[in-house]
Amino acid sequence: MMRMKVRLLKTAYGCDVAQADWDYAKEWIQTITFEQTIWTPRHALLRSDGAVVEYIGQDYAATELKWLENGWTEDICELCEHKIKKGDSGWTPDGRHWLCNQCYDLLCISNTPFSEVGGGDHGV
Ligand SMILES: [Zn+2]
Repeated sequence: MMRMKVRLLKTAYGCDVAQADWDYAKEWIQTITFEQTIWTPRHALLRSDGAVVEYIGQDYAATELKWLENGWTEDICELCEHKIKKGDSGWTPDGRHWLCNQCYDLLCISNTPFSEVGGGDHGV
């Protein structure tokens, strides 16, 4: 089995984030304009297997997918996977990709994110 050494960082919500993901997000917020926004539900489609798919204007067959008015009920922070739901504020460039307030603040002000929790061996 292949094992990779991953440097892990602890987020404000206690989730582990890989250094590479932090570096990517750091670059992301410097190249795209984010706005602080109150999250609201969006429309979605229900597949026959029970999975909910975000509606982004795609064509769909009403016989195969069921319309869910405001059925997209949460997004997750792209960095720490904290859930962002109705009434929460977060940062987004497009209304679809989100960073939680804590991650955004840390990305803006800090080059040394969170508290380092040391490297871990992660089986692949
Ligand atoms: Zn976050």
